[in-house]
Amino acid sequence: MKNILIIHTGGTISMLEDKDTGEVNTTKKHPLLSFKEFLQIHANIEEQIVFDLPSPQITPIHMLQLGKSINHLIEKYDGIVVTHGTDTLEETAYFLDLMLTTKKPIIVTGAMRSSNEIGSDALYNLISSVRVAADENAKNKGVLVVMNDEIHTAEYVTKTSTSNVATFQSPQYGPIGIVTKESIIFNHTIINHSTLTVEALSNHQVILLKAFAGMDQTIIQAIHSINPDGVVIEALGQGNLPDKTIPAIKQMIEKHIPIILVSRCYRGNVQPTYGYNGGGKQLKKIGVIFANGLTGQKARIKLLIALEKTKDFNELQAMFEN
Ligand code: ASP
Repeated sequence: MKNILIIHTGGTISMLEDKDTGEVNTTKKHPLLSFKEFLQIHANIEEQIVFDLPSPQITPIHMLQLGKSINHLIEKYDGIVVTHGTDTLEETAYFLDLMLTTKKPIIVTGAMRSSNEIGSDALYNLISSVRVAADENAKNKGVLVVMNDEIHTAEYVTKTSTSNVATFQSPQYGPIGIVTKESIIFNHTIINHSTLTVEALSNHQVILLKAFAGMDQTIIQAIHSINPDGVVIEALGQGNLPDKTIPAIKQMIEKHIPIILVSRCYRGNVQPTYGYNGGGKQLKKIGVIFANGLTGQKARIKLLIALEKTKDFNELQAMFEN
């Protein structure tokens, strides 16, 4: 049997519902710790609680700490499962995906319904994740997210529903595998998986901004006034912005503040197609960097890590566009 470590960080998967008020909250003892017998069928299990945090409280510093612990512990195990709140699960999973170079399976999971709620997916998702972590085919695929019988890459998965148990989806490419009662089935090969290792995080301020109809330069100027280290903009469509934002964007670029462009569309890539004022061609020409296929929140994680390596425009551009 494989040796699998489960690292708990908090989230609904570690919470319980108050039957009188319906409130879901943290508990003194992790409710899943008493279900080891269901996990031991699939692997030798050890468990550690590193944090007990609702995931809105998770910061990049926690992600780095978690990644360092995994780097330190992975030699002793065949795979690691991380349990995490679902709200920022995709950011932690992607941070780990960039920072970890191990070929062993690292699985991140969570739950939409706490352990004592009717139809809870907490124990079920944990068992599925242990099964995937113990599967030979889960190796060498980067960090994976296992929820609701599906296996997703950390790079493309995103939380799509506030409350549905089928919330985690990879809108562009779909899951890379499924979990059935009998087996773990992978049906995609990972072709491009790159890492960006990180040892420490400076306190870089990277802002995430969503574009909207009628946007002008005021909000960009307000962001510039706090002197950020970088800005990620969820642009319109293929990567366009309202023309009125352009002068302020140019000013930031002139001050060497990197601006990374993603799309607010949840599928497709940004690309410099349109030549009109504010169109992608113009944005590219003035030095906006296009981040292909990443959501805003993931491009922000990548920029935080990238800024630890370089502030050089060409190097940053290569990291996001190649
Ligand atoms: N608000 C919760 C959290 O992210 C949601 C969950 O875990 O599903 O911690």
